[in-house]
Amino acid sequence: MVKKKIVILGAGLAGLSAAWHLQNDAIECLVFEKESDVGGLCRSRKIKDFIFDCDGHLLHFRNKYTLQLVKKLLKGNLGSHKRSAWINNFGVFSRYPFQANLSALPEKIAKECLFEFLKVSQSPQVRAPENFLKWINSSFGKGISKNFMVPYNRKFWTVPLDKMTFGWTDNFIPRPKPSEVIEGFFTENRHAFGYNSTFWYPRKSGIGQLPRAFEQRLGNVFKNCPVTKIDLDKKEITVCGRRKIKFDSLISTIPLPEMVKIIWPLPADIRKMFGRLRWNSIFNLNLGMKGDCQTEKHWIYFPHKGSIFFRVGFFHNFSNDIVPYGNSALYTEVAYSKNRPIDKSKVVSRIIRDLNSCGILTKDNKLSVMDINDIKYGYPIYDQDYSRATAAIRGFLLRNKIIACGRYGNWQYMSMEDAILDGRRAADKVRR
Ligand SMILES: Cc1cc2nc3c(=O)[nH]c(=O)nc-3n(C[C@H](O)[C@H](O)[C@H](O)COP(=O)(O)OP(=O)(O)OC[C@H]3O[C@@H](n4cnc5c(N)ncnc54)[C@H](O)[C@@H]3O)c2cc1C
Repeated sequence: MVKKKIVILGAGLAGLSAAWHLQNDAIECLVFEKESDVGGLCRSRKIKDFIFDCDGHLLHFRNKYTLQLVKKLLKGNLGSHKRSAWINNFGVFSRYPFQANLSALPEKIAKECLFEFLKVSQSPQVRAPENFLKWINSSFGKGISKNFMVPYNRKFWTVPLDKMTFGWTDNFIPRPKPSEVIEGFFTENRHAFGYNSTFWYPRKSGIGQLPRAFEQRLGNVFKNCPVTKIDLDKKEITVCGRRKIKFDSLISTIPLPEMVKIIWPLPADIRKMFGRLRWNSIFNLNLGMKGDCQTEKHWIYFPHKGSIFFRVGFFHNFSNDIVPYGNSALYTEVAYSKNRPIDKSKVVSRIIRDLNSCGILTKDNKLSVMDINDIKYGYPIYDQDYSRATAAIRGFLLRNKIIACGRYGNWQYMSMEDAILDGRRAADKVRR
């Protein structure tokens, strides 16, 4: 039997997982990664004894298979944590999810949230909502919408919410039962809501240990090898602008808006579909500092306009191995897009000012290390063009023996676990 030549583009979790699932079955494949290290977004960097991930990266498992695989790869270097997530709004901290923890809010706001929620929960929906904004209002009522869901999601997605669809929400936004919302109105609710109520994190050395563990078990992973052209007619890729490599099947985890620049030939109607893709970007500032800082919380959401970031998380509460003794480290996340640009020359000082104003940084903290990750492709935006454009692109790629894979290759709101599973799916598809 003639051996198929399988090539994988990108050594983030999706590409590494695809390679692992193939090579584990003794199927040969080559992986090309443009950076000097594997991991993509799931990488860690050491700066002056602080280990920083690229933004917060915590493992959540819905699936036993992935948990077992990650445990096997990390050989015991994995700890589980019960989430301590909070929301900072109206000058108080309430537990996440907002909708199930109204008790901490000022009384007038809590009552408005509860009454409006009960109103919508008693009126069954006749028609499916037309967009994300209507879905929020009909799922949670006007109070929770106005006081949390709309400002937070507007800040996070950066686009008007009535331009978005809501099919993706099932996996990411918890919908507590009326009894749970009522319970949370009277007392702090400690039920395990949502997909991320427990998370896992390496005990040592940051999240970058996971892609490294994949890499150690793989052959044929070529780093510093950007793929600069994909020739569909010749079934050939160009690496580093010179080396040509033929393929029978290609698994691509390259972000679609980057792929459109290197794929050839591309029919005009498909090029147009690539042009319909939208995304937000994330400016991530990591800070290391002397002294204690939020010793119990894992992360905090900031829905209000008073702070530029939508979330702040605390590395030292994930593992005490990644922050030097007597120090703390945090990450901040600011969303932006063409629709809502930020001034990058001022964003760092604004973040630090806002961390001071909300009391996260105090006079006891002396900043010592700074790490910036400007993540161009943050979250694919599910707008009205999303389904048509992605279906047309994926179909076109598949007809040309390219399997779109991973969060940006497949253009989906995926977690690390999802990216690993998508790599397995792509490997299965190639096998077939
Ligand atoms: C801000 C943020 C926070 C997140 N937090 C979490 C979290 O807490 N928990 C969680 O589970 N998930 C989280 N995620 C999601 C998670 O990061 C992704 O699902 C996962 O890392 C995606 O892996 P991937 O391999 O699909 O993509 P990537 O990690 O983007 O990998 C793609 C790879 O392709 C390479 N590449 C690109 N172009 C080329 C080229 N031309 N030639 C060769 N190589 C190329 C890139 O260098 C990269 O290594 C977060 C995502 C973001 C943006």
